[in-house]
Amino acid sequence: MEYSEIMIRYGELSTKGKNRMRFINKLKKNIQDVLSIYPMVKVTADRDRAHVFLNGTNYLPVAESLKEIFGIQAFSPSYKVKKEMPAIKQAVQDVMTHIYQEGMTFKITSKRSDHDFELDSRELNQVLGDAVFDVIPDIKVQMKKPDIDLKVEIRDEAAYLSHENIKGAGGLPVGTSGKGMLMLSGGIDSPVAGYLALKRGVSIEVVHFASPPYTSPGALRKAHELTRKLVKFGGNIQFIEVPLTEIQEEIKNKTPEAYLMTLTRRFMMRITDAIREKRHGLVIINGESLGQVASQTLESMQAINAVTSTPIIRPVVTMDKLEIIELAEKIDTFDVSIQPFEDCCTIFAPDHPKTTPKVNKAEIYEKRLDVGGLVARAVANMKIIEITPQVEEDNLSQLIDDFL
Ligand code: ATP
Ligand code: MG
Repeated sequence: MEYSEIMIRYGELSTKGKNRMRFINKLKKNIQDVLSIYPMVKVTADRDRAHVFLNGTNYLPVAESLKEIFGIQAFSPSYKVKKEMPAIKQAVQDVMTHIYQEGMTFKITSKRSDHDFELDSRELNQVLGDAVFDVIPDIKVQMKKPDIDLKVEIRDEAAYLSHENIKGAGGLPVGTSGKGMLMLSGGIDSPVAGYLALKRGVSIEVVHFASPPYTSPGALRKAHELTRKLVKFGGNIQFIEVPLTEIQEEIKNKTPEAYLMTLTRRFMMRITDAIREKRHGLVIINGESLGQVASQTLESMQAINAVTSTPIIRPVVTMDKLEIIELAEKIDTFDVSIQPFEDCCTIFAPDHPKTTPKVNKAEIYEKRLDVGGLVARAVANMKIIEITPQVEEDNLSQLIDDFL
């Protein structure tokens, strides 16, 4: 027998009263995005559950995908059976003989949403339990924590059997907490920060700064790949590539080397904030972690943060590097992050950046630059693509060609 569908139980959202249908619809869309690589799969969702109809698609990879999607508490693969007692009995016997191992206990839990069905749930339990004894005479019934809990559900269109309950990722459906702009470099920390924001229902748009020709197409592709790793948690992500070359050259030519890093970061923050406003995001998310590098002292954080009053979420700020790496491995971004491509922040980087920059000094140096014009041009030249579960290889090389 082949599983025909997967029943999905919602997570935390069940506590959200009025917003319930909004949450459910977001989750449905997210599941559709993530499963879009399976053309035959159909997804529906009602107040109590969502259903993934496999229509012949292999169950296992679909289940692996479902395990990652935020907002799913648990799910059960099910067999669809004709709504007639002989067929249901036969299916119960087939499933039980397939999964039974010596010494196992069982129970049958029937539920009838079609109240016109010939037997009620108590009678169903009785008759189907007897059918099990017919084929496995030695099996014992156990009401509390049986080894096999075979659920039988009589719905309008058919009967459904299930016996597995697989734990989901929990969290909130992506998008139910609003939108934030994730500043994504090619490093280890920012993808992890993005993952943690997604977990609490924040949908993200990725902002990535590139400085061609100083940064390579490989660096850009790496950022695309990292973004694609985040799609599995809640659906497609808009990837916004922003050119930083002109700004970096201006800073390099007109301001003291010790402030290069601080000034560059202040520009990145201003530009991200401008894009956020334009695209109706609520917050900025980054991968800053306290004390890791020169840019991540509290003084530095303050000097960079001073250009905006938009809330900045720093999900990994207090985590140790090893804790971040552990998460990066779990979400499968680590191996991509450690590919050696030069980031825009390492080009022109001085050997001794200022670890205690001052806001007033940064402002004085910025007077030498056309801050408004530089920001406006960077925003005007941004490029947006949508990252889906599968980015075609030719699509990628096209992107690289465009980039060059
Ligand atoms: P990461 O591992 O994310 O690169 P990091 O520890 O190397 O972080 P920094 O290089 O100081 O730290 O960067 C701090 C944060 O600034 C990054 O986590 C990211 O959010 C943002 N950032 C850095 N470079 C870029 C970039 N090229 N494009 C977009 N955001 C960036
Ligand atoms: Mg970095």
